[in-house]
Amino acid sequence: MTERVLVVGELLTDRLSGSTVEAIGAGARLAGGASSVVGFLAGATARSRAPEFGRYGVTEVAILEDPACEGAPVAALVTAVVAAATELGTETILLAGTSFGRDLAGRLAARWGATAATGVTEITRVGSTLELRRPVFGGRATETRRIEGGRAVLALRPHAFPSATEAPCETRLRPIVAPAVPELLRAAHRTGLEASPGGAGPGLAEAAVVVSGGRGLRAPENFRLVEELAAALGAAVGASRAVTDAGWRPSSLQVGQTGKAVSPQLYIAVGISGAIQHLVGMMSSRVIVAINSDASAPIFKVADYGVVGDLFQILPALTNEVRRVRGQ
Ligand SMILES: Cc1cc2nc3c(=O)[nH]c(=O)nc-3n(C[C@H](O)[C@H](O)[C@H](O)COP(=O)(O)OP(=O)(O)OC[C@H]3O[C@@H](n4cnc5c(N)ncnc54)[C@H](O)[C@@H]3O)c2cc1C
Repeated sequence: MTERVLVVGELLTDRLSGSTVEAIGAGARLAGGASSVVGFLAGATARSRAPEFGRYGVTEVAILEDPACEGAPVAALVTAVVAAATELGTETILLAGTSFGRDLAGRLAARWGATAATGVTEITRVGSTLELRRPVFGGRATETRRIEGGRAVLALRPHAFPSATEAPCETRLRPIVAPAVPELLRAAHRTGLEASPGGAGPGLAEAAVVVSGGRGLRAPENFRLVEELAAALGAAVGASRAVTDAGWRPSSLQVGQTGKAVSPQLYIAVGISGAIQHLVGMMSSRVIVAINSDASAPIFKVADYGVVGDLFQILPALTNEVRRVRGQ
């Protein structure tokens, strides 16, 4: 029997998140085609949004049309996803590498009797054995782990897997019957969702390009230099803890040990020294560019490209050049 992989969908407004599309791509490679991937969506819009999976060749979507799942805590989805996986007879659930996916992974694994892993960057199957790799110790080592048979719930690291290619097809809906969301979880539902200031760009954790600024910017008003470069590149804005502790920008932008972990295709660190607590949050970025006036700053040890110089001269020139090249 063909292996089927369940991919739990995460919606950003009315579209599947980029990380979900990457999970579909990973599932298709694992199971030998997108038609062996089954999508999952829950909430009042599950039926109308299911065709989003069909854009990537997924022919079947398990749905739970329970409005109580809308804005409910992640825990409210667990029983429904388990019901879908059990009904499909799948052994593997893939999740987006977002805080939603990481949160759901552990809960699902505990309920479903599965092995869980987060931050996964490679998956291969040999017979009934799943072999996966993922960075550990803040990116300073890569772990290889084998799951010999049995169920697996894997949350993938953003940008580690290529997105599924578009191959539009019809989707078949499979309504799931699941126990009602417990009263306790209904009581804790989300009542509002406002974008954070400066949050118009891509989300930090998912962004393909991140421009982060540090104390080298000297004053909060100078941080706009970072924001302007990010806007020109269509990048997300990040910050070191020195910046967020000083209140120049909100802590939601902090990258590092006590902030967000990011792994974009391109990370540009501006006026950031490269303390280990910052590095652990961005070291696994594909290409790292550092701009710093101190040639001995530790950030240059992890940078692929370094510019030693004054950010107040470099950033405006770089932003202008990006705008010119991109016709902005
Ligand atoms: C428990 C704990 C958790 C922590 N968690 C985090 C975390 O999650 N994230 C985090 O970032 N930090 C974290 N920190 C703090 C971390 O140790 C550093 O203090 C912090 O990262 C430093 O921020 P910075 O690089 O912006 O500032 P600095 O270390 O002061 O570096 C500023 C840099 O700007 C450069 N610079 C100055 N002027 C210019 C100029 N004109 N042009 C170009 N470059 C210039 C300087 O050469 C310097 O390298 C944590 C610390 C602790 C103890």
